[in-house]
Amino acid sequence: MRHRIAVVGSGPGGLTLARVLHHHGHPVTVLERDAGPDARPRGGTLDLQEGLGQRALEKAGLLAEFEALSRPEGQAMRILATDGTVLRDWPPRPDDRANPEIDRGHLRDLLLGPLDVQWGRAVTRVVPGTEDGVLVHSADGRQEAFDLVVGADGAWSRTRPAVSPATPHYTGVTAVETSLDDIDLRHPGLARLIGEGSLAVYGVNRSLVAQRNSGGHVKVYAQFRAPLDWHAHLDLTDDACVRSSLLALFDGWAAPVLDLVRRGTTFVHRPLHVLPEHHTWTHVPGVTLLGDAAHLMPPLGAGANLAMLEGAELAEAIANGPLDLDETVRAFEERMWARAGRWAEITAAGLERLVSPDPARALAVFDQVQPS
Ligand SMILES: Cc1cc2nc3c(=O)[nH]c(=O)nc-3n(C[C@H](O)[C@H](O)[C@H](O)COP(=O)(O)OP(=O)(O)OC[C@H]3O[C@@H](n4cnc5c(N)ncnc54)[C@H](O)[C@@H]3O)c2cc1C
Repeated sequence: MRHRIAVVGSGPGGLTLARVLHHHGHPVTVLERDAGPDARPRGGTLDLQEGLGQRALEKAGLLAEFEALSRPEGQAMRILATDGTVLRDWPPRPDDRANPEIDRGHLRDLLLGPLDVQWGRAVTRVVPGTEDGVLVHSADGRQEAFDLVVGADGAWSRTRPAVSPATPHYTGVTAVETSLDDIDLRHPGLARLIGEGSLAVYGVNRSLVAQRNSGGHVKVYAQFRAPLDWHAHLDLTDDACVRSSLLALFDGWAAPVLDLVRRGTTFVHRPLHVLPEHHTWTHVPGVTLLGDAAHLMPPLGAGANLAMLEGAELAEAIANGPLDLDETVRAFEERMWARAGRWAEITAAGLERLVSPDPARALAVFDQVQPS
């Protein structure tokens, strides 16, 4: 039986769902708000865990291609004190494939493959329970009916209101992202400081994290506790102004660490929002959510992994499962809620410790999960 299935959003979750359905020969419609795959900057690097994101790629038949594109050396992690002293340094073992990094753009290209995404289709409303099925309205004035609509449209999902009134709330931690290009050529000292993977520095209620992407590109995240309107007297479109306000905020930190901010080019404000932990809803026939739309949590290495595994599991169950479509979706939701609820607790506790009044609590997070 060929169901009419729509996926709203072509992030890691939506694309994995679509790709695994495609792998099983099941048609699927992907509606994406962006005008094309390169309409926005393609984002930073993602680490894909063996039991989560990599399992999803295996279900899509893409694990070998992922292994060719990913960067196992990117698992390296170095932690400095604010005075620049090296506190921890973990190079990955040569055979370590537990959490290799991949550029978000490379992952998107890998998942897109043969999929025919409908770009420039911003969904405005999803209406279940009509005579034709579930109606999807988009900003271009079109409406289409489906048997199942999966909202994989991220934090500010337009599908979510069809099943749940929940909205994301601010965590009290904000992030400002900047980046450096051609680091090995232009800033060799910083390149050595960061190494092959990530560098993190934890201070009182603030942290700086630098992550190497492919091609000598580095993303730097300055995170700090602040009210949501901390920038009320700042022009966020003025990079020089944001840079100097960050330098003042991190005043007293070692000069090479501050150079990560000083040399940064464009600055992007990303306040961290989350959905309530253990967010669930009363099942609505014909509509479900996955990924950030269902369980937005702090960005600590789980969100894309979960979204992808959910997409893969739902697609497999639809294509092969013994249950009818509605029973399949109900079973999927129960499983997603249980797993995502556990991760929401872990990542909330992680953020609490990583950006805390006591930087020793941040180190303890890593000492629990890394070999000494
Ligand atoms: C700095 C940072 C680093 C991170 N690092 C990691 C990591 O290493 N590992 C990890 O697992 N997670 C990481 N995350 C979390 C991860 O990025 C998200 O959890 C993940 O992208 C969620 O995937 P998704 O498919 O659910 O949603 P998204 O990636 O948000 O994709 C949603 C898609 O829906 C589209 N869309 C939105 N609204 C509409 C609409 N109305 N109509 C049509 N389309 C729409 C969007 O354009 C987008 O393409 C990180 C997050 C951040 C901010």
